[in-house]
Amino acid sequence: MELRFSEKEEKLRQEVRSFLQQNGRSEGGQLGSRTDAEFEFAKEFNRKLAERGWIAPAWPKEYGGLGASIYEQMVFNEEFGYFGAPDTGTRGFGVGMIGPTLIIHGNEEQKKRYLPRITSGEDIWCQGYSEPGAGSDLAALQTRAVRDGDDYVINGQKIWTSGGHRANQMFCLVRTDPEAPKHRGISFMLIDDIMNTPGLTIRPLINMANRHHFNEVFFEDVRVPAKNMVGEENRGWYVGMTLLDFERSGIGTTASQKHTLEKLVTNLKEGDKARRERYRTRLADLVVANNVGRFLGYRIGYIQASGMVPNYEASVVKIYQSELGQKIYNFGVNQLGLSGQFVPEEPRAPFGGDMPESYIQAVPSSIYSGSNEIQRNVIATRGLGLPRG
Ligand SMILES: Cc1cc2nc3c(=O)[nH]c(=O)nc-3n(C[C@H](O)[C@H](O)[C@H](O)COP(=O)(O)OP(=O)(O)OC[C@H]3O[C@@H](n4cnc5c(N)ncnc54)[C@H](O)[C@@H]3O)c2cc1C
Repeated sequence: MELRFSEKEEKLRQEVRSFLQQNGRSEGGQLGSRTDAEFEFAKEFNRKLAERGWIAPAWPKEYGGLGASIYEQMVFNEEFGYFGAPDTGTRGFGVGMIGPTLIIHGNEEQKKRYLPRITSGEDIWCQGYSEPGAGSDLAALQTRAVRDGDDYVINGQKIWTSGGHRANQMFCLVRTDPEAPKHRGISFMLIDDIMNTPGLTIRPLINMANRHHFNEVFFEDVRVPAKNMVGEENRGWYVGMTLLDFERSGIGTTASQKHTLEKLVTNLKEGDKARRERYRTRLADLVVANNVGRFLGYRIGYIQASGMVPNYEASVVKIYQSELGQKIYNFGVNQLGLSGQFVPEEPRAPFGGDMPESYIQAVPSSIYSGSNEIQRNVIATRGLGLPRG
């Protein structure tokens, strides 16, 4: 077995890498950018990607992609992850979630309307799934949509809407039949121009890193054209679940963790002997674990390249990468000593304050995209064939 990328893919990697060295930043600027300036930088960065057809390289050319192979897409994901390429929500929610869902479940009009606006970087999407009473048990959602002429009228509330304050588009799940069994009364809706939609209010939620990353969204008689429904009325659960399969297949995380480990190696080389002795074997263990994570990620790529949809395998990767990230950033903060606790705003912070920021941001990684307990349930039932309960 020979596990390596082809010459063509390695050539592409060099091209992407040199583009990122010139145009991306290696720190910060991720989704939910800390400052408005970082968000503007991410928008400009996506505009440059769009010029090259690099926002969604694996999509068909007619929708603004390059028709690239899954392995080429993996090269992009690895390089973007390694360099911490900034995003606005266009690539994460647009390319990673709603785009592939529309390619499968959307009608021609929806594909023609929305996909090119993702690959141009124009639309910034957010996800309206969770509600105060519906997280892991998502099908318990109560936000109600009632048909009225050519529109649906929506009332209710969403919560934890990442990047909702900077998005212009939202995809969401709403209840269209309250009498039906809970999974069968849900529909999938697209809401345009959310900042200017009457009755739709977005309120900030400040996270424990003191950042405005997510929001609460309130709907009061919000009118959405019926043509914005994806798939059939009351069949939205299946559309929504397709989207989650995509949400859970990401592979850039391992590359980002690799970059952090490399920085910690450099730091340890520069430090004194006592520190080296204290941290070297633990650092080596994390490097081993990171390599395991990389190959788990490649397996997802292989499954996709073989025309299959990763299922419990993606849950394995999600658990592994999120829990490893928590260990790496915890270790990193410790290794850097007291200065490792400096936040990005402090000019003396090592690595631009990336370590404590990443440490805090790694905490929710075992909750979002479906908590790790839920992923373990998926592995137990779908992967191992164990009965529920
Ligand atoms: C940083 C962040 C960003 C997010 N962004 C978004 C977003 O953009 N859009 C969006 O819609 N949502 C978003 N979410 C919400 C996220 O999807 C939910 O937090 C998640 O699904 C868990 O739901 P919950 O918070 O209601 O917890 P609960 O479902 O109430 O779970 C509480 C605890 O119970 C455990 N648990 C629940 N059910 C089971 C079970 N059957 N078996 C074993 N354990 C169980 C859970 O694992 C968890 O530990 C985000 C969350 C975070 C933290």
